[in-house]
Amino acid sequence: MAFALISDIHSNWEALQAVIAEIDRRQVQDIFCLGDIVGYGPQPKECLDLIIERGIISIMGNHDHAVFYEPTNFNTGAERASYWTRQCLEDESNRLKRNQRWTFLGQLLSRLEMNDILLVHGSPRRPVNEYIFPDDIYTNTAKIAANFERVRHLCFVGHTHVPGVFLEDPDFYGVEELDYVYPIVDSERAIINIGSVGQPRDQDVRASFAIVTDDKVEFLRVQYDIEATASKIFANPELDDFEGERLKEGR
Ligand code: ZN
Repeated sequence: MAFALISDIHSNWEALQAVIAEIDRRQVQDIFCLGDIVGYGPQPKECLDLIIERGIISIMGNHDHAVFYEPTNFNTGAERASYWTRQCLEDESNRLKRNQRWTFLGQLLSRLEMNDILLVHGSPRRPVNEYIFPDDIYTNTAKIAANFERVRHLCFVGHTHVPGVFLEDPDFYGVEELDYVYPIVDSERAIINIGSVGQPRDQDVRASFAIVTDDKVEFLRVQYDIEATASKIFANPELDDFEGERLKEGR
């Protein structure tokens, strides 16, 4: 078994290309995406097209949902970005391309189960919208317990953009603490956040993703041209400058 997991691309074309190139370099064939292909960033069309071309099976994130249906509980910046993304997809003059992208967004799965591995965007019990934060191990142990009830062995999530591993205790280990590797143990259940390709929020500005093999989950980071993405955001009046600035700080 070897597959790569990517998540929370957020229309960041430079980051997505860098991550896919690294996955190819490591000769991993199967890639799954845990959602939020779009939202926040400047290049939704290019990101969607690459995911579609590569046949990457994808889960629906809250931002994909917002663009296809409607934004719910979004801050102003995120909401504006959703409406701009929708318009950008609508304005496509190639009808075939336009339909292909909308069809793809509309058919995203809310969850995917492969043997005893569960893939969702947010959490096992509320796959599209619930955040599992590192602090929840202190402040909301009921949330952690309710989610572990729905996990048979491993569950992979994105959504918070903070990579790391939740254990049932409850406990949370950041990727640095783990030295970027979680050894898979048959008797241990884990909820594993793989971080974000296009908008990391753990103070590490590099794009985050993971490769899963029989015995371990490896957390990986790659550099990409942050300046290029940020300047496209600054040049787009429909996207808040903050969405570009945060890329430079990893928050
Ligand atoms: Zn996201």
